[in-house]
Amino acid sequence: MPFHSFALSLAALAAGVSIAACSAPPAAAELPAPSPPAAAHPPATMTVSALPSGSTQSSAAMAYEGGRGDDKRTFVAGAILVDHPKGRLLFDAGYGRDLVQHFKTAPKIMQMSVKPQLDRPVAEQLEAGGVPLSSLKAIVLTHAHWDHVSGLGDMPATPVWVTRAEMDFIKSGDDGARLARDLGTRTYRTYDFPDGAYLGFARSWDVFDDGSVVLVPAPGHTPGSIVAFVNTPDGRHYALIGDTAWQVEGVDLPAQKPMLTRFVDEDPAATLAMLQRLHAAKRAVPGLIVVPAHDARVWAKIPRFGSGSAAK
Ligand SMILES: [Zn+2]
Repeated sequence: MPFHSFALSLAALAAGVSIAACSAPPAAAELPAPSPPAAAHPPATMTVSALPSGSTQSSAAMAYEGGRGDDKRTFVAGAILVDHPKGRLLFDAGYGRDLVQHFKTAPKIMQMSVKPQLDRPVAEQLEAGGVPLSSLKAIVLTHAHWDHVSGLGDMPATPVWVTRAEMDFIKSGDDGARLARDLGTRTYRTYDFPDGAYLGFARSWDVFDDGSVVLVPAPGHTPGSIVAFVNTPDGRHYALIGDTAWQVEGVDLPAQKPMLTRFVDEDPAATLAMLQRLHAAKRAVPGLIVVPAHDARVWAKIPRFGSGSAAK
């Protein structure tokens, strides 16, 4: 993080004000809508469910440029389970049992400004809900920041899938991936994107060869960030976008993170390009549910794990 933005952020925090409202959002560059993907053929028994593990309290002003300080937002952290007959995939790992220790690896400004609350770790929820950890095919990281890998500490034997670029990021010594390094990468596996263009993204990986789970590279927030498109048998279409945006307005407007918190993006210009691409993808897939990793309002639209109403 550049020192000047850190100092600016601290100054703004100390003054108790948001500088977000002072900067006008950039003019939205509209990309043409991409071609819709070929129809998916998800198996009838496939389900998607959400496992929130905890949250922090913040505001729209911290989440996207133009957001208001009095627009309070809950930033959820957790995992999304895709239960496919060919294998159970968990997207991200949320807060783990050792959250208090793990939070000490977060950016200092975050440690000063938010207080994460642990409700129930993902691993506990899975086991209580009859999903043994040994039954998971893999944990797929949208990216390797601390609040996405904390729960890996509770699932040390489960394979973790990351892109080659994210593995390089973890190994690079960058502070943003310190917890991932500390927890160890022995179970990590890297993957490529052998399949063709998908919704405006040049490359993809159709994990089950049925169009139900399609991963695409989305570098910007981190070098190896991904977006996961998940298509369910009841006709729902999700885009799990990690932290490319923290709240859905980031894609809907589109709008970058505000200057105050933009330091979390390794490459802000590339992140904006991804937001514009996702904004265009929404026009190609009517009803596409964009799921930022921390937008509690969107997570509430996903069936809760263990509720008995997981979407088929
Ligand atoms: Zn992140």
